[in-house]
This record gives sequence, C-alpha cells and structure tokens, in this order.
Amino acid sequence: MDETEKLNLVGASVEEIETRLAELAQPRFRARQVFAGIYRRRLRSWEAFTDLPAALRRELAARFTLDYPALERTFLSRDGTRRCLFEVAPGQKIEAVFIPEERRDTLCVSTQVGCAVECLFCVTGKLPMRRNLTAGEIVAQVLALGSERADSAKRCNVVLMGMGEPLHNYDNVMRAFRLMTSQEGIGLSPRRITLSTSGVVPALERLAAEPIVPNLAISLNATTDAVRDLLIPINRKWNIATLVDACRRFPLEPRRRITFEYVLIAGVNDTAADARRLARLLDGLRKKVNLIPLNADPWVPLAPPPEARVLAFQKILTDHDVTAHIRRPRGGDVSAACGMLAGRDEPSGDLVHPPPKPASPEDLVRLSSVR
Ligand code: SAH
Ligand code: SF4
Repeated sequence: MDETEKLNLVGASVEEIETRLAELAQPRFRARQVFAGIYRRRLRSWEAFTDLPAALRRELAARFTLDYPALERTFLSRDGTRRCLFEVAPGQKIEAVFIPEERRDTLCVSTQVGCAVECLFCVTGKLPMRRNLTAGEIVAQVLALGSERADSAKRCNVVLMGMGEPLHNYDNVMRAFRLMTSQEGIGLSPRRITLSTSGVVPALERLAAEPIVPNLAISLNATTDAVRDLLIPINRKWNIATLVDACRRFPLEPRRRITFEYVLIAGVNDTAADARRLARLLDGLRKKVNLIPLNADPWVPLAPPPEARVLAFQKILTDHDVTAHIRRPRGGDVSAACGMLAGRDEPSGDLVHPPPKPASPEDLVRLSSVR
C-alpha cells in the first residue's frame, strides 16, 4: 500500500479506531490501547506500541499512519515563548504558540489556515482564508507542543486563539475538543480549554446546547456597533446586543465566567466613555474582562494606547465591580503575540503570503470619522 493511501489515525476517535480494528478482527480493548498510545503516550511510530503484539504492529503500520503536521521551524522568544510554524499542506502554514508560565503552561493553537473574519487589527485576518483544519491537525498541535515539557500535556491550558475563527470550523473544533478532554486520551479538563470567538452567534447557540463545553472567550473589542462594524466585519450580521444576549443565555457551571477580550486601540475604543459603556453592557453577566493593549505590527496601521490610558480604562472597570486584567504580550519579538500569527517564516519579517488587503490609511479615516 502506498503511504498516501494510508489513513492517518491522529484525529480518530476511539469508536473510529474500534471500527478499523474490528475489520482486522481485533478485540475492542486493542482499540483502547491504540487510542491511549496516540493521545496519552503521544507515540509517533507503530514500533513504539510495545503493548501490542508485533504482528499487529506490522499490520497497523501497513494500513495506518501517525502523522502530525510537519513542524517547519520554531522561533524562541526572549521571554521563553515558542512560536511553532507548521506546514499542513504545500504552501499552507499555520502556527501554534507554547507560552511557559509559572503555574501552568499555555498552548495556543490554530483552527484554520487564514481567517475569513478579516478583523482590521489582526494580521491573520489579512491572509486569504485557505481552509478549515481537521480535528487531527488541531489536536496534533496540542500533542506536539505538549511534548515541550517532560511531564506531559496534562499540565497545560489550551486556548483556541491561534489562527482562525473556531466557530467557523465548528465540527472539527468540537471533535478536537472531545479528543482533548477524553479521559483515556489527553485527559484535559474542559475547564482548561478556552474557545475564543469573534461572535458567530448561531454557532454560539449551538455550542450552548452541547453536553460539555469549553470556557468561552468573546472578542468584544468595541462598545458601539459603529466602531465594532469597522473592527470586526461580522458585527454587521450579529451586532453587540445580539452577541451579548447570546452570552446571557449561555449556560455556565457554578463559578465559571465568560471572558470578554478587549483589544485596546489608541483613539479607537479606549476612552473613559468606552470603559463605562463596557461595564454597562456586561452588567449582570458572570464575566471577567481581559484588556489587551494592541500588539503593533507593520501590517496593522493602528497603535496601542499609552500605558496611563490602559490603566485608567482598567480602573473605571474595577470601580464598576468588573474584574479586569491587563494581558501583557508574550513572544512579541518573534511575532508570536495575539493577532500576529500569519505563518511568517521570519522572526518578525515579511509575510509569507503578502496580504491581499492591508489596512489602508482610508480605513483609519473611516475609523476616526465614526467617533
Ligand atoms: N478568531 C478568534 C480567536 C483568535 S484571535 C477571535 O477573534 O476571538 C485571539 C485574540 O487575539 C482575539 O481576542 C483578538 O481580538 C486578539 N487580537 C487580534 N489581533 C490583535 C492584535 N493586533 N493585538 C492584540 N490582540 C489581538
Ligand atoms: Fe480572525 Fe480572530 Fe483575527 Fe478576527 S481576530 S481576523 S476572527 S483570527
């Protein structure tokens, strides 16, 4: 059998593996061994499955692969953050970021090659949207990055905050989520996984009906529809009121909260009036706010506010009893910080795919005219 005809089992559920192994007249417990080998032990070759009989290992090797996306390069930041560049198909690059932290490391993974939302402030949004990642490609990023530390992927948080809009790739993202949370596999608690969305409301409603859900983060980023329409074009479909309404209906377990992310952009969404409106908009919700001073990038003609303004914004929120943390960028020197992921092959150099639609000075004029 040709390598290309073999089925890749990275991304398969235990039920799918059972079906395959039943075709080889294998008992069901073998499927559980294979599943644990792939996801818990993170084995990369069939020879490494030492708990299986040698004849079965040979049979599996003849039919199935254990492929992760090809890791092309790793960029190491001064702060220890690693940006990992993968090629998922010829010319299709994605990135995942390993962020070491004192208590728990964070793995930030991609869900699409590019992104169709085209937010004005985000470099990923400047790329052409190429395709959805498969569940296997999503979960393999966690497996590959989890190996950064000897003591397993279990000690980490996973954030679906890399390239792409996770709710535009709902089925594969949820399959990957179930693989990450399966006790016999990676075994991550659903509380350790955060899905971040720009606000695809129908998909959010679908998510609300799932039996197990990840933590939810909403990229709000503005307090008026006029500004949000320009920053996040899908706001014209589902505006702030519709989005916040869907959040109010989202079922939350005790002590869980929705995170609202708010990228602070100088002169665009950073006034005292914005801070007060934000507190009012979120009134009554169980929430916390993450304030992210914009990460500047040559392709984004916007700037973060001065530090004093960021602190003043935070103070207004806390004065209104809204928990607000300021998120300091990690890995900025190697283009690994929020909104900088574009499959770039240089620490902070040119885009591999030059953006078809760089934000123009006219965009800024339009932005300033709505204020
Ligand atoms: N598409 C999803 C998840 C990926 S983006 C979403 O938009 O939520 C992850 C986070 O990075 C979002 O909260 C987004 O608002 C933020 N972000 C995008 N561009 C940024 C930039 N230039 N500086 C800081 N944060 C940015
Ligand atoms: Fe896509 Fe999120 Fe970037 Fe917007 S911020 S373009 S939704 S990745």
